[in-house]
Amino acid sequence: MIKKKRKPAEKKHLINPFEIATYQLDMAAKKLKLREDVHKKLRIPKRIVIVSVPIEMDDGSWETFQGIRVQHNMDRGPTKGGIRFHPNVTLDEVKALAAWMTWKCAVVNIPFGGAKGGIKCNPKEMSVKELERLTRRYTTEIMSVIGPELDIPAPDVYTNPQTMAWIMDTYSMNKGYPVPGVVTGKPIEIGGSAGRVEATARGCMFNIIESCKHLGMDVKKCSVVIQGFGNAGYILAYLLEEIGCKIIAVSDSKGGIYNKGGLWPHDVKKHKNKTGSVVNYREADNINNEDILQVKCDILVPAALENVITHKNASRIKTRIIAEAANGPTTPDADEILLDKGVFVVPDILANAGGVLVSYFEWVQNLQNYYWSEKKVNSKLEQVITRSFEEVLNISQKHKVHMRLAAHMLAVKRVSDAALIRGIYP
Ligand code: NAD
Repeated sequence: MIKKKRKPAEKKHLINPFEIATYQLDMAAKKLKLREDVHKKLRIPKRIVIVSVPIEMDDGSWETFQGIRVQHNMDRGPTKGGIRFHPNVTLDEVKALAAWMTWKCAVVNIPFGGAKGGIKCNPKEMSVKELERLTRRYTTEIMSVIGPELDIPAPDVYTNPQTMAWIMDTYSMNKGYPVPGVVTGKPIEIGGSAGRVEATARGCMFNIIESCKHLGMDVKKCSVVIQGFGNAGYILAYLLEEIGCKIIAVSDSKGGIYNKGGLWPHDVKKHKNKTGSVVNYREADNINNEDILQVKCDILVPAALENVITHKNASRIKTRIIAEAANGPTTPDADEILLDKGVFVVPDILANAGGVLVSYFEWVQNLQNYYWSEKKVNSKLEQVITRSFEEVLNISQKHKVHMRLAAHMLAVKRVSDAALIRGIYP
């Protein structure tokens, strides 16, 4: 038993993602009056693997990258979480993302723990062949700690179905037989699930619909601003436009665009494909990535990276709902400011859980070798997200806490119950 009481991490101006994740856990543990020894177990990632990933570049020279895989918790099942290729990947970021995966899987009640992987690299400056070699070597380096019953990667920032196909192939060639269940987010041709590409955005859309119902807003009349125009942001833009929302501003890493009268997401995407960015889209004004968060709207969706809503800009945000398609976009002190302003925040571990949920459906289909229709996938996605939203909202109302704390309370309770039932080995 731990005798000494630990102080929860200080909230003030935290920006280190792992300190933020730990602070969020501490707050939930406090509310739940969680046993100190169980709380300590949940604070510490189960396994951290750091590997060097040397590859031959196209010009014949060698380059060595750092690859990370963190498995945060396995009490409820094998671990699950994406792989990020980005120049700013750090161990603390991956540890935080892995912890958030644990809570996310528990919020939607799927039998997985959380993991995350990352390679510190700039994929925009690498050729497709270099990215393939990087992915295959990284997979080989982490072979012993991944697998359908152990840890199942998926796409994240700057990785995609093709990246997953390389992982599946590398793993399968080493095993000597096809193992589709080792990754999710694969192309349909090799065991991917119908609806997986759109799942993160679709799940976010269901959360937005439920939020509007709860707040008495007509979703069809809502204006929307989205930061990030990749898998999560772009797809959400066109799904919301399809149900009648007006998308008034979007952005990517190079900047943003704004048109009060509304944007047509598919056309903006065509422009991005042609020019490499949404910037300079002819039917909109350019706007920078900081200002976009301050555009007056009904729904604001951060769908890029962490720490974009902080104590520095939270008071200037003019929206009714924030739906966190990205992981970790809001710092704890920004959360307090938003709460005071009456902004309804749907936290990342609920708002973007559609991705891991359909990844779970994909894994189930792989294990059974039996594939579902897109209609079935989407209807199960809607059912689970709607139920999870209600569960989190009920806790939030019962305990008078914001949605993030409520979601963490639900998740931490489920994981700690599992840990206690299993007990400690040996
Ligand atoms: P992606 O690589 O498809 O897209 C990322 C987008 O963010 C790109 O449009 C990029 O230009 C933009 N971006 C990068 N830096 C930016 C910056 N500083 N300002 C504004 N935009 C910037 O990645 P994704 O899969 O859409 O992931 C986006 C977020 O959603 C991440 O936080 C990720 O963890 C989260 N998420 C993704 C999934 C998924 O299934 N892909 C699931 C859950 C959560």
